[in-house]
Amino acid sequence: MSIIDDLTRVGAFYAKDHLVLTSGRHSPVYINLRVIAPMLRLVDDISYNLMRVTPAYPNVIVGPETMGRTLAFALAGRKLRSPLALWCNVAGEGENKTASWPIKMGFEKTLRPGMTAIVIDDLLTTGSSVKPVVDLLRASEIEVLGVAVIVRRNPDVTAETLGVPELWVLEDVNGGETYAAEDCPMCATGQPLRLRPGHGWKFAEEHPDHPSVLAAIH
Ligand SMILES: [Zn+2]
Repeated sequence: MSIIDDLTRVGAFYAKDHLVLTSGRHSPVYINLRVIAPMLRLVDDISYNLMRVTPAYPNVIVGPETMGRTLAFALAGRKLRSPLALWCNVAGEGENKTASWPIKMGFEKTLRPGMTAIVIDDLLTTGSSVKPVVDLLRASEIEVLGVAVIVRRNPDVTAETLGVPELWVLEDVNGGETYAAEDCPMCATGQPLRLRPGHGWKFAEEHPDHPSVLAAIH
């Protein structure tokens, strides 16, 4: 079984399907890896795969909330010299996101200049969530070895575009194509619309007689 098979089985990944994104655009691909956070066995299996592709002896593994935190802990437990596992908050939108350490946790006091770090997250689409984490670490003079993710949704995002030495990706998914409802090829053929996850339910409320809605998957 591949990781994609596992993610599909638990409803974290849909392909060749028909869903509606938050933006209202229709897509054959839908990825919501947060649903695996409570699935410890699956998180552990994924961290085993991440362990094999990432450096053996980082000092720190850091992920942004929510899934980055989960993965940082899982991966740290797999490393030979159990590194620190830390998390940070990321706020803002798009290119203006910023990362900060959680208040009152004192994480910054555990960091020493020259330590090495891996930044980890579940899904890489533009890099806007991991870049501020890299910046936050470099502000403490931590050497960022690279970024590790489960799924990369956009092959144009690379170690170079992220400004880090290495990028480790478990699964590449071509999920770029999304459509306005009126141009949606799945709607055109009446392919059943999935009401959830995503916003298919909203489209269904607005277009109750649409063939894709009449055949909808509840
Ligand atoms: Zn559609």
